[in-house]
Amino acid sequence: MSNLIENNTSIKVVDMPSGVEGPGFFATTLDKAVGLARKNSLWPLPFATSCCGIEFMATMATTYDFARFGSERPSFSPRQADMLMVMGTIAKKMGPVLRQVYEQMAEPKWVISVGACASSGGIFDTYSVLQGIDEIIPVDVYVPGCPPRPEQIIDGVLRLQDLVANESIRRRNSPEYDKLLAKYNIE
Ligand code: SF4
Repeated sequence: MSNLIENNTSIKVVDMPSGVEGPGFFATTLDKAVGLARKNSLWPLPFATSCCGIEFMATMATTYDFARFGSERPSFSPRQADMLMVMGTIAKKMGPVLRQVYEQMAEPKWVISVGACASSGGIFDTYSVLQGIDEIIPVDVYVPGCPPRPEQIIDGVLRLQDLVANESIRRRNSPEYDKLLAKYNIE
């Protein structure tokens, strides 16, 4: 088995974080080491209400293989999820449910808005549909498209990985983060 892995050049190990290297030692910062671990183990919580959710199913399947990014374990408990992926039309009646799910997730947590409906209401410019989930919860990455292809969803996750890798471990305790949550009346 180990021979198979060694001989298969398509298998790559993630790059080391930047740091100082010398004979027999490597030093980096805690921020970078934690960022590397977090970025490669983002467990998704798929909040799928309509067609964009089908694209997520394709993203998880063998052809696109979401597991390559350390996100093969969908969590249907908010308490064990890091990355909330909102996919589909969110009716205003569904808004409080989505918000509750977000609030139940433990810090640090991130949100990807997948597709036009989640990001802006999409074609449903109507009284019953939320015109973007960022009206009720903070969003880190928006994925455009109706529906976005699996490649676009993966691109959104890669962009989120960049944010996660470079986020300071102190960010969640900063006044700026408190201010962001306060904007959404989240304590
Ligand atoms: S963005 Fe398009 S594909 Fe996605 S849920 Fe809305 S209507 Fe469906």
